[in-house]
Amino acid sequence: MSLFSQMNVLCPNCGKTQNIAGVGSVNADRRPDLRAAIMDDSFQMMICGDCGTAFRLEPLFNYLEVDKGLWIAAMPGREMPEYIEVEDRAMGVFEISYGERAPAAAKAIGKDLKPRVTFGWPGVKEKLTIDELGLDDVIVEKLKLELMRRLPEVPLGPGTELRLMGGGESALSFAWVQTVGEAQEQGFSVDRALYDEIAGNEAGWAKIHARLTDGPFVDMQKLYMGEGRAA
Ligand SMILES: [Zn+2]
Repeated sequence: MSLFSQMNVLCPNCGKTQNIAGVGSVNADRRPDLRAAIMDDSFQMMICGDCGTAFRLEPLFNYLEVDKGLWIAAMPGREMPEYIEVEDRAMGVFEISYGERAPAAAKAIGKDLKPRVTFGWPGVKEKLTIDELGLDDVIVEKLKLELMRRLPEVPLGPGTELRLMGGGESALSFAWVQTVGEAQEQGFSVDRALYDEIAGNEAGWAKIHARLTDGPFVDMQKLYMGEGRAA
């Protein structure tokens, strides 16, 4: 079931209190329209009843799509620096809902679910894009790391991230985006053969693979933030 609850937020423009329906969980098997809204950037967009300004709530919900094996704790972008804590909390929720500590029926569903944590709207949207293209998210993150080495100019920094935007048979397109404001900067495309090459070189990427998958936040940005989990 998808759950929404009434909540009060302040309009970022006029500061007046708005009572809006914030999402707590998305069940995309039953509500494919909600998945579509995440993909077209309209999900949780609100219009202020007082001044008419459009603004977007931060993501803070669990996304479930059993059919695709997707379970995502979609978190606000500003919480990314505390990702280890957030990962642990998300895994606690997953364990009770679909993991080891879940009732038998839920546990049976859970064995086909891949738990993930994302921060910001571009992060959760990217996981759905990866699913749509039939790609593996761990390999996509390795590909980004490879691109960091190859690109002449790398604007990666706090609040700016590299995200997969789409793709086809022969190329994948990426763009630098703002984690919070979602503004998109330069985009470029990459030969899909590079993805296949990385997918075929498991041994060469083993060490990075271990880092990327040491928790449900499967994102190369974790390699740039602090010491990571103790080895
Ligand atoms: Zn307003």
